[in-house]
Amino acid sequence: MAAPMPSPAPPVRCHALLPCAGSGSRAGTALPKQYQPIAGQPMVRHTLAAFAQVKRIAQVWVVVSPGDDTLRTSNAAFSIAACGGVTRAESVFNGLNHLLANGAAPSDWVLVHDAARCLVTPAQIDALIDACLPDGVGGLLALPLSDTLKHAGADGRVDATIDREGKWLAQTPQMFRIGALRDAYAAHAASAFAGITDEAIAMEAAGHAPLLVRGSAQNFKVTYPEDFALAEAILNSRNA
Ligand code: C5P
Repeated sequence: MAAPMPSPAPPVRCHALLPCAGSGSRAGTALPKQYQPIAGQPMVRHTLAAFAQVKRIAQVWVVVSPGDDTLRTSNAAFSIAACGGVTRAESVFNGLNHLLANGAAPSDWVLVHDAARCLVTPAQIDALIDACLPDGVGGLLALPLSDTLKHAGADGRVDATIDREGKWLAQTPQMFRIGALRDAYAAHAASAFAGITDEAIAMEAAGHAPLLVRGSAQNFKVTYPEDFALAEAILNSRNA
């Protein structure tokens, strides 16, 4: 009798995880900055609109603080994980565990993206997916450094100029296999994720070399008060 055919491997999926549990203390806004209105919408809604247009993303999860019901949703465009932590890293780590507990496979991909990078475009997200899907490790959007880099001494004066050759500014999304990224983060849980300011750092510490995929200067993280006007001008110009 012929041996039974092996069942086909389940398809590898891409999920998005948006850390959205910060207080935004540098933004000087009354609301957490990710909820501050920009071009008529809370900032995170622009971020969600970009991800909603990327058909290869199976599910978008937004990590908010426990008890935060600002983003109540009745549609299926995104899901809420109310497991935000004290730091971005803790929010991401909790979010990855939440994904794995809710049907994601360790071999699935996750694109982690700051809710506060509300200018990301579907084309940039697609470019990252195209570059990372065939890659063994995964990678991140980033931008080659164009300015001269100075190091500040204790007195607020330059004490060194750092060669900018080969230096890139890390952006998000950052795309890795969920299981590998979760394990990379878990290795830093005991030290409260000290120094883990993005996914790539955790992967690097685990011995991987993430792929750098050229992003856009417009994909900046809205951080300081003056960033809001710039983000609004760009969004308005896109909608004009
Ligand atoms: O504060 P920062 O701009 O670095 O935050 C980057 C992203 O991480 C933001 O979208 C913010 O909401 C999120 N974050 C989070 N949990 C924290 C701190 C930040 O989800 N404890």
